[in-house]
Amino acid sequence: MAIEWLEKIPSDSVAHKAYAFAAEIHKDAKRMNGDPYIVHSIEVARSSYEWHLGDAAVAAAFLHDVVEDSDVTIRDIKKAFGEEIAFLVDGLTKLKTLQYPENPDIENLRRFILSFGKDLRVLLIKLADRFHNMKTLKFLPPDRQERFAWETTEIYAPLAYRLGMQRLSGELEDLAFPYVHPEEYRWLLQETKNDYATREAYAKKVVPLITKELARNGIHPIRIDSRAKRYYSLYKKLLRYDMDLSRIYDLVALRIITRTVAECYAALGVVHQLWQPVPNRFKDYIARPKPNGYRSLHTTVFCADSRILEVQIKTEEMHEANEMGIAAHWAYEQVKSSKDKRNEWKGVKNKKELTWITQLQNWQKHFVNEKEFLEGLKFDFFKDRIFVLTPRNDIVDLPFGATPIDFAYRIHTDIGNECVGAKVNHVIVPFDYVLHSGDMVEIITQRGKKPSESWLRLAKTAAAKKHIRIALHAKHIGLHAKKEPALIEFRIINVDRPGYLKDVTAVFGNAKVNISFLTSQTDHRMKFSAVTLRASAFPERKLGKLLVNLKKIPGTREVSYKSIR
Ligand code: MN
Repeated sequence: MAIEWLEKIPSDSVAHKAYAFAAEIHKDAKRMNGDPYIVHSIEVARSSYEWHLGDAAVAAAFLHDVVEDSDVTIRDIKKAFGEEIAFLVDGLTKLKTLQYPENPDIENLRRFILSFGKDLRVLLIKLADRFHNMKTLKFLPPDRQERFAWETTEIYAPLAYRLGMQRLSGELEDLAFPYVHPEEYRWLLQETKNDYATREAYAKKVVPLITKELARNGIHPIRIDSRAKRYYSLYKKLLRYDMDLSRIYDLVALRIITRTVAECYAALGVVHQLWQPVPNRFKDYIARPKPNGYRSLHTTVFCADSRILEVQIKTEEMHEANEMGIAAHWAYEQVKSSKDKRNEWKGVKNKKELTWITQLQNWQKHFVNEKEFLEGLKFDFFKDRIFVLTPRNDIVDLPFGATPIDFAYRIHTDIGNECVGAKVNHVIVPFDYVLHSGDMVEIITQRGKKPSESWLRLAKTAAAKKHIRIALHAKHIGLHAKKEPALIEFRIINVDRPGYLKDVTAVFGNAKVNISFLTSQTDHRMKFSAVTLRASAFPERKLGKLLVNLKKIPGTREVSYKSIR
């Protein structure tokens, strides 16, 4: 079988040897869709090649399923291909399935984190593997489809996002969406069909207007196009906007790609002169990139016919980096150097950007139980981040939902322990105040002050909780908090249907958790309900299962919870 891209790699490369080896091993195996198994290995290797991961990674990608599907061992791989490739294949072989969400195999995940922390290529090849598996998901039996889709949504897509690989992350989410929330997926498709079409047509209509105006000001962008928001991304945003489509301004956004950074700002000026900006909608992600490295100018304007339109302005290089993330970074490195560096793995240049991987590795040692590990993992690393400012204008990156306590511990353990009050934007706030991006946070400390037990419920980050526990002299880290009863308030967004509330109360009944308060509000126009429910005094270990079961009720869109004192 001739593979076009593989021909570009010199024939003495280890990549060819690995291809021949894998083809021989998998020669009788078939994929669920009837394809020869090697097709999958080739696809994974191709992504690794396109992401410029180097020949060793391409070889490891060819070999990634060999150990699982034959008698070949890692030792054999080491003998035939050397230490480096054997290490990569070993890392890839370890992570078979996470059994997400019912029985997450935490040991497996832990090992995977450790190996990709040592070498990011393990994670990237794994993402390539998952990407191809998601593209061929429809051929799998339903239970495996659902499990793959959940893992993809909860673990892999957020990991890709954190690596700045926006395109891959978005594609993974969209591939998983129909399996994770089938009803919602159909609903969204139906609801937005017309909106996408009219807004797309509208964006096309204004392109000549803006092109002309830019030209009049001496700006000639490389191109102006429109981008339609991805379905899953839209769905997540709708959840935050009460499912109100009219409040989503970036369903279709206009994208201006310029040659230089100066042109970005110049183009922004022209856009704002032509159309009035919507207040508080301008974001300068060039001066302050998102934590995952995303750079662009975003503005929303009252456009022709008084319609509202989002405009994104960035250079070609930024655009490529935004879409490809870490992979684009290597590509640029390699283009810059004249020597053929294809075989040289340079790893990540800017170590600081990826401290979260080191954090992830160190921090996972502190967990005693698996639920806590997985919940903490998701909360700390995979959810949306906010960034807030210190009084000296340093940026602090925290998970969404973080409180001043998390902030204080992030600055310094002592500041956390001695914290007696907090100001946000110069105003005193309570400790349970939820921080927002852009908040300026100031911590008031008192010497010798000790944290109080209730802080464990206020802190959202695992790091803060750990330090609080240490300060409280909890003898057995983790056990303490587990025993403590908490009053927890759940908020559940769901499609309104008869019997929904009964299903919700049944989930709590089955878990033997008492409901102390329950109310439901319905938006009849949108056919959505928001259920608010308080559960009294139950052990925290039941929480994970409860959340999973609530999400499984047909019609559930989103479940969130918080502790109340
Ligand atoms: Mn595979």
